[in-house]
Amino acid sequence: MTPAQTDFVDPEKFFDCVHCGLCLSFCPTYVELGTEMDSPRGRIATMRALHEGRFSLDPETVRHLDLCLGCRACETACPSGVHYGELIEGVRPFIEQYYRRPLRERLKRKLINSVFPHPLGVRAFALLLKIAAALGVPRLARARWVPRSLRYWCGLVPESMSGAPLAARYAAIGEKRYTVALLSGCVASAVFGATNQATIAVLRQNGCEVLVPPGQGCCGALLLHNGDRAAALALACHNIAIFAALPVDAIIVNAAGCGAVMKEYGELCKDDARYREQAAQLAAKVRDITEFLGSIPLIAPAREVRAHVTYHDACHLAHGQGIREQPRRLLQAIPGLRLTELAESDWCCGSAGTYNLTEPEMARRLLARKVGHIRETGAEVVVMGNPGCLLQIRAGLRQEGLPVRAMHTVELLAEAYGIPPS
Ligand code: SF4
Ligand code: SF4
Repeated sequence: MTPAQTDFVDPEKFFDCVHCGLCLSFCPTYVELGTEMDSPRGRIATMRALHEGRFSLDPETVRHLDLCLGCRACETACPSGVHYGELIEGVRPFIEQYYRRPLRERLKRKLINSVFPHPLGVRAFALLLKIAAALGVPRLARARWVPRSLRYWCGLVPESMSGAPLAARYAAIGEKRYTVALLSGCVASAVFGATNQATIAVLRQNGCEVLVPPGQGCCGALLLHNGDRAAALALACHNIAIFAALPVDAIIVNAAGCGAVMKEYGELCKDDARYREQAAQLAAKVRDITEFLGSIPLIAPAREVRAHVTYHDACHLAHGQGIREQPRRLLQAIPGLRLTELAESDWCCGSAGTYNLTEPEMARRLLARKVGHIRETGAEVVVMGNPGCLLQIRAGLRQEGLPVRAMHTVELLAEAYGIPPS
């Protein structure tokens, strides 16, 4: 390979790593496998060796990089300020461009990349899930005669879905205090309609006029994590054209992975003269729903929710956006609710974008660990801020037969405002 081909990241960034190893015990794949090559330090060394042409893209090298969840727990742990997320997101397109995966892998990744970001693909996917739910597939997660690996896939099928179309505008309830726009999401709009409805309802209760711009699309996060940077950039530009000109106080996102990527649109579009400025302006307005509600004088929810609750920190909320306190404060504002901290609450549950589809074995190991900790709390509800984690954790709870409800933070808040689930 020529030096130009291996120039997938600013090499200066490798030198931030001083090899201290303080990140190792925070890396889920290192803790599970115990191998240096599956640690942040090992992966940084691998990426540097690839960049300098000392390593080639052989199956073993790619395997260790593929196994990285992109959870960014190492960034939180690193005292040296390593931008690990930028490094791994830089190397992924390089792998996809120059490494020929085995046929089965290629087909799987092609299918994932062609389904999720496209409205038609998402609708077809949602229809398949609905058919599978109607046939009782989620119940097979507990069937002993079904092979264990297949039970996991069955558990991933949601028992119910709502994807009713949203209006373009919702008026504030009472005095209008803010105007916000909502990213309705690609998968979320088809599969997690209830989360979007709860988000809109809670915002309206808090004096927000909510705009849901028609024509918006996937934010690009799934493609970016899968190494298709060019396609992710095209999706980002599409959304920038739709959202950037809106006269709103904030752009609200209720999916941690999408919010983390939209906050980085400025960086993603830095080489695109047409969109660079707008991208940075849009990124500055992006707020996770809990971040936004935590930043305004909250209209206190009045209804008691007598429930024992625990909270799972989605990686792209805690590590990607540094949002930890706000969701906990919102939960504590709910009368009657008892909150118990979850051990390893900011450890990845194995969902990680489409990681549970591309790396199901490691995803299942991490899920079992997460469900074990949820069991230890004795909580009856587990709350989180990311739809992907919801699918994954529900699958684990179903498989273990644990009677714990998994909900988005904003859905529990909606209950506390007396808003009926949609
Ligand atoms: S990534 Fe950070 S914490 Fe990990 S070895 Fe390098 S400097 Fe140390
Ligand atoms: S992003 Fe997560 S899985 Fe990857 S090296 Fe960092 S801590 Fe480990």
